[in-house]
Amino acid sequence: MTKPGSTSRLRIDAAACDGIGVCAHLAADILELDRWGFPIITVRDLSRGELSAAKRAVRACPRKALWIETTAVPSVVQRAPGVSTPS
Ligand code: SF4
Repeated sequence: MTKPGSTSRLRIDAAACDGIGVCAHLAADILELDRWGFPIITVRDLSRGELSAAKRAVRACPRKALWIETTAVPSVVQRAPGVSTPS
């Protein structure tokens, strides 16, 4: 599950991918195949449901070419002293 305050994205190592397309069948809402059978990620930040499908695809990838990258999102935007908020 994506932790509060973070985003998760599916990543592909194109050089490692075999282009057979197992992942796209397991995560059809996130991945589609190009004309040669190589996956293209269609979703940027994964929802909870999409994250589950992405994890299935990562586990099933025979070439270990998929991974999930989680990035913390700052909860508070700090402003430089003297910079006012536009109204
Ligand atoms: S399962 Fe892995 S190796 Fe196969 S197409 Fe998807 S990313 Fe490439």
